[in-house]
Amino acid sequence: MSLTCDDLDAMLPEFLDGSVTADEATLAAEHLATCEECTAELNELESVTKLYREHGTMHLPDESRKRIAGSLGISE
Ligand SMILES: [Zn+2]
Repeated sequence: MSLTCDDLDAMLPEFLDGSVTADEATLAAEHLATCEECTAELNELESVTKLYREHGTMHLPDESRKRIAGSLGISE
């Protein structure tokens, strides 16, 4: 079994939280190793998550901030 981009996209917040299972983490890592698009998205989410944790806010255009916050499950 392998993940699609949509599968990985849905899993990213949990992946970043470390709340995925070991199997899911392996599948996610396998997909990320072969997919530049998802790797870029993961990096984006990681840096934004870090900003949120450090500053409690993000300095991004409204539209992408809302999209990212939505995918992280953060309500403003
Ligand atoms: Zn992908």
